[in-house]
Amino acid sequence: MTARAPLKPLDEALAQLLAAVVPLDAVESVATLDADGRVLAQDVISALHVPPQDNSSMDGYALRCADVAQAGTVLSQSQRIAAGMAAQPLEAGTLARIFTGAPLPPGADAVVMQEDCTVLETGEGGLPQVRVNAVAHAGQWIRRAGEDVSRGAVVLARGIRLGPAELGQAAGVGMDTLRVMRRPRVALFSTGDELVMPGACAPEDMPPGAIYNSNRFFLVALLRRLGCQVTDLGIVPDQRAATVEALATAARTHDVIVTSGGVSVGEEDHIKPAVQQLGSLDLWQIAIKPGKPFAHGRIGQAHFVGLPGNPVSSFVTFLLLVRPLLIKLQGAVDSGLHGVPTRADFDWGRPDKRQEFLRVRRNARGGLDLFPNQSSGVLTSLVWGDGLVNLPPGQVIAQGDLVSYVSFSELLT
Ligand code: AMP
Ligand code: MG
Repeated sequence: MTARAPLKPLDEALAQLLAAVVPLDAVESVATLDADGRVLAQDVISALHVPPQDNSSMDGYALRCADVAQAGTVLSQSQRIAAGMAAQPLEAGTLARIFTGAPLPPGADAVVMQEDCTVLETGEGGLPQVRVNAVAHAGQWIRRAGEDVSRGAVVLARGIRLGPAELGQAAGVGMDTLRVMRRPRVALFSTGDELVMPGACAPEDMPPGAIYNSNRFFLVALLRRLGCQVTDLGIVPDQRAATVEALATAARTHDVIVTSGGVSVGEEDHIKPAVQQLGSLDLWQIAIKPGKPFAHGRIGQAHFVGLPGNPVSSFVTFLLLVRPLLIKLQGAVDSGLHGVPTRADFDWGRPDKRQEFLRVRRNARGGLDLFPNQSSGVLTSLVWGDGLVNLPPGQVIAQGDLVSYVSFSELLT
């Protein structure tokens, strides 16, 4: 590979990268309460109906429709059933006081909401007479046993990433622990002799040429959100030997090594030769903007991913390439970029040979505004923006055009 080789289009690069990913096969049990973000390694099959029995979806009265053929019929209350109680069969010609979630008494075929009933004087045994002011229809205000989940149904399929709704569903069928894929072990290091860790030096004492290491902070956060166990190897100096040493050590105990910076062609860029010395570099440089200096390879069993140093490039290539890699590594299926056709309220008159990802924000008129500075070093564009316009190579945008908008909220979960 040379710097002059044609840049690989994003979809080809992603397909090649994913073809090299074999899902991890180790599985572990975690408490359902702690399983947010993990990938499910089992089918969850319900051993019961949900809800387990017919129950009321209203506070009101359970009765037989045949007993209230006309509005205004008066019936005696024969029992009171609150949620969590057992119901007795409904005596003929009576009704039962019932509350939301309480089991329907056998024999009842409808619930009339309390707003449609009038409680009359208390009869024998302290239970009232009730006038039913509306005609009842069979099945009304009844939640049927199994209408949510029937016994034996697969409620959650192996390979999905668990989120809040999935955890609730698992709990709803009685699962307090779940089998999940083990977390990928990811080593992260930043390259660059100009980098200083926040906290190591006060802003007013920063030496000339120094900048804070911002990539480390968003990369750790992005990795953790994807369920990874991150080893932070800090800043590695711009030296070949140090780079080789850091990569070799990390490769022994990690599934993935992620680096930022040092992956271009300058004399201070040591990542590429170091990876080639230790393993193989299979992908290098991609036809996207920002994010051209992206690399993928192998060192022993570990995947190597070299992200660009420029913060926006690093962030965007992580979302476009590393995120799908980590999702596949955990045995889940990434559904790809969901671009929503959205109106551009800006012009973009500079076509580029590369596929571009512009930092934009939805406005109150349902269109998109463009962040004025699209430089790959300007992190402010990611903070200001709420998504990216995915612009095919060679295209311009005129105000009013529909463009493909990908929201960060989708890519950051
Ligand atoms: P490089 O890819 O190493 O040539 O770096 C490209 C640009 O990104 C340079 O301006 C670097 O100073 C900057 N950069 C590299 N790494 C980081 C980092 N961890 N945090 C912030 N900026 C960085
Ligand atoms: Mg550098």
